[in-house]
Amino acid sequence: MLKKAAMVDYQKCHPEKCDHGVCLAALECEYGNLVQEDPYEAPEINPAKWWHGCAKCAQACPLKAIRML
Ligand code: SF4
Repeated sequence: MLKKAAMVDYQKCHPEKCDHGVCLAALECEYGNLVQEDPYEAPEINPAKWWHGCAKCAQACPLKAIRML
């Protein structure tokens, strides 16, 4: 069975509303699938990583900007 992958909804993602610009979703990802280069920048999906489908990032995002597809 295919595991769900995450997608960042950039209409909903507002890093300035998160913890001092730190992406809580990227912080939560222990696999490095979601990467934030610098504070106050929106996170990006790391295409080089294998997706685990745990959805911890989606749960951690206070603005519900991560969708599992
Ligand atoms: S994905 Fe969520 S937690 Fe991460 S910067 Fe965007 S709004 Fe904040």
